[in-house]
Amino acid sequence: ATPTALMVGTGRGAQLGILIKGPEVLESTQRIDTVVLDKTGTVTTGRMDLVDVLLAEGEQRADVLRLAGALEHSSEHPIAQAVARGAFDELGKLPSVEDFGNVEGLGVQGIVDGHAVLVGRTRLLEEWSQYLPADLAHAKEHAEAEGSTAVAVGWDGKARAVLVVADTVKPSSAEAIKQLRALGLKPVLLTGDNEAVARKVAAEVGIDEVIAEVLPADKVAAVKRLQGEGRVVAMVGDGVNDAAALAQADLGLSMGTGTDVAIEASDLTLVRGDLRSAADAIRLARRTLGTIK
Ligand code: ADP
Ligand code: MG
Repeated sequence: ATPTALMVGTGRGAQLGILIKGPEVLESTQRIDTVVLDKTGTVTTGRMDLVDVLLAEGEQRADVLRLAGALEHSSEHPIAQAVARGAFDELGKLPSVEDFGNVEGLGVQGIVDGHAVLVGRTRLLEEWSQYLPADLAHAKEHAEAEGSTAVAVGWDGKARAVLVVADTVKPSSAEAIKQLRALGLKPVLLTGDNEAVARKVAAEVGIDEVIAEVLPADKVAAVKRLQGEGRVVAMVGDGVNDAAALAQADLGLSMGTGTDVAIEASDLTLVRGDLRSAADAIRLARRTLGTIK
């Protein structure tokens, strides 16, 4: 490729929200056949969202969200922020809280609209003789087995609901995987999370090759192993624990929304943190290099 063509490609990348370390990076994208994707923060948002409200018989969703949301608004815990945001998005303004208290490792308590409200582990509610009905306890276990986090809600002496929070797949991820496949690339999901959660996320976005339960230090070994099979590997990641693997990959792509360490270790940064830019980058490289033959 001529230097001019490469410079033009680099400029076009910037317009597409792709920061390329140097023009020569485009050349290395040519032979890529495999794209390894980190899960948390790359395929998923990396933050907790409220995904389900499970109600005991006779309870109203709006009541649960109003009281639990108001209480959690006073807590910094990632679970609390997910609950408060979910409640606010649905109901708007939430009531204020009196006598807020954090019960270390168990949850939170406080008075909302004159009710003594608890949100947290089943154990916290049980300390106040509030017991989840069997069907709700069961549904909670089921959500946890699927890799979500679930907390119980009770007030005025009664357990009333279970809130399910989870890291969720980015809306653009499935489309991005489709585009990568259309470019002839094989997507692989790489994560330290457990197999069940990894499989679930992979199925949601259309990935069938999964490497799960990988310790941070072993991500780089996973990339090496794929390279040892003769595959030419691009790696997309965002975390500190992805940095070594990004450097090891034939092409390292970092999320602009990710950590500085990952960005520094990569050849290319997807500024918007949108996985579709990975497909744009590879398409751009092929086009740039193809036109100047
Ligand atoms: P971790 O968040 O790593 O699980 P914590 O000690 O912060 O550890 O909390 C332990 C558990 O207590 C949480 O998993 C959750 O079930 C419950 N918990 C703690 N704080 C809250 C909160 N603000 N809202 C709901 N549940 C909470
Ligand atoms: Mg990550």
